[in-house]
Amino acid sequence: MGMIHGDDYRESLRRVKPEVYYMGEKIDSVADHPAFIPHINAAALTYDMAWAPEFEELLTTESHLTGEKINLFTHVHHSTNDLVQKVKALRALGQQTGSCFARCVGHDALNAIYSVTYDMDQKNGTEYHKSFVNFLKEVQKEDRFISGAMTDPKGDRSLPPSQQADADQYVHVVERKKDGIVIRGAKAHITGAVNALGHLVMPTTSLKEADADYAVCCYVPVDAPGLVHIFGRQTNDDRKCSGCLMDQGNPEYGIVGGEALVVFDDVFVPREQVFMCGEYDFAFELVERFATAHRQNYGGCKVGLADVLTGATYALAEVQGTATASHIRDKLVEMVHLAETLYCCSIACSCQGYALPAGNFMADPLLANVTKLNVTRYIYEMARIAQDIAGGLLATMPSELDWGNTKVGKYVDKYLKGVTDVPAETRMRLLRLIEGMTCGTALAESMHGAGSPQAQRIMIMRRSNWERKKRLAQKLAKIGEQPKLV
Ligand code: SF4
Ligand code: FE
Repeated sequence: MGMIHGDDYRESLRRVKPEVYYMGEKIDSVADHPAFIPHINAAALTYDMAWAPEFEELLTTESHLTGEKINLFTHVHHSTNDLVQKVKALRALGQQTGSCFARCVGHDALNAIYSVTYDMDQKNGTEYHKSFVNFLKEVQKEDRFISGAMTDPKGDRSLPPSQQADADQYVHVVERKKDGIVIRGAKAHITGAVNALGHLVMPTTSLKEADADYAVCCYVPVDAPGLVHIFGRQTNDDRKCSGCLMDQGNPEYGIVGGEALVVFDDVFVPREQVFMCGEYDFAFELVERFATAHRQNYGGCKVGLADVLTGATYALAEVQGTATASHIRDKLVEMVHLAETLYCCSIACSCQGYALPAGNFMADPLLANVTKLNVTRYIYEMARIAQDIAGGLLATMPSELDWGNTKVGKYVDKYLKGVTDVPAETRMRLLRLIEGMTCGTALAESMHGAGSPQAQRIMIMRRSNWERKKRLAQKLAKIGEQPKLV
């Protein structure tokens, strides 16, 4: 098969029965609940856009395993062109959804695990890579949406996994059986967890020998016994269930990806779905390769969102009669400058990518981390400018229910109008979209998604060639040698 449509994906969600909780209630069908529908719509677009002639070239490719045409989100990159294609595809998807479409995390996990299983087998004579390739073929054939589950709750962050008072603060192996393993613990903030079909579990940090039980990487289907999902609240999420559409800002795709706490309460994993078990000395490689792939993304998807935000801000300035003021134009130009700078970063780290021993390509880790660190600043700055141009009404505007009220609706209509030829409704819709994209959860995603800023600083510290920089300076300053007199 190789490629499915968005509706096939929705049907596949209805066939599985994951244990999902939201607002204290067990959810019967994720695919049909208003809290999840925008996230499912965004993920479904990764399928449907792959069939659209104008996006096909960006969102499809050829499997290096079978030669079949597949969706980009199941592909393992085999060139710098592939890496650039991913960034362009993410920007295009971000432009269409204005939100997170969640499928990239599992995609990045596929790429990282593909390469690390190969390296482990080369060193230890294990057979993880063969199992993983079989699994990858299945994923490609079914065009399956999987999440990437890396971040553990971490408990007391001053202590490694094996010294935690509660051993479950990091996912670990509690039993080794002939035909598989049993794992316990939890993964936090997992994007797309409730609307994926399974999770690729990975370690979250570098590990030492004492932490060997925490060196576990495996695939777990969403409805595996013992697996529990607790969906996170988001800013203004009750608007999704209130019957209001305009007040949601982006009713079709939501304001942010849907994240969940995923609990592994003694989950059995068959041996063929285990891709690391005890190889603590490969945990860091896996973390770094996954993090590099995901940080590479952020100058793609977030720039697509920035295109939407800039467009909404410009359109609002027109409605409010400020679009031709020189300071507004300067600020709009600044938004574009910031967005395109992020895009440059993602394109650059992709072009500077290189082949790993398994043959697949990874973006340049230093530049990928710089990309994501810039996202933690520039997206906030763009949001600040958008809110500046929008004005205080962004925070004080009456509800669409008051606008529709027979008694007071006429006042809302009259006093929220800007230029004469545009109805108040247009202004209200733009303000709600900007509110959704610049307040609360949506912004925090740019800070902490793909790892917090300090995680990027640590990688930048490790990957910067400090000695070489020092030698360059010493050479020019003639330190350690007698100056030659001409
Ligand atoms: Fe993909 Fe992550 Fe961007 Fe969401 S935030 S669209 S998962 S790269
Ligand atoms: Fe993310």
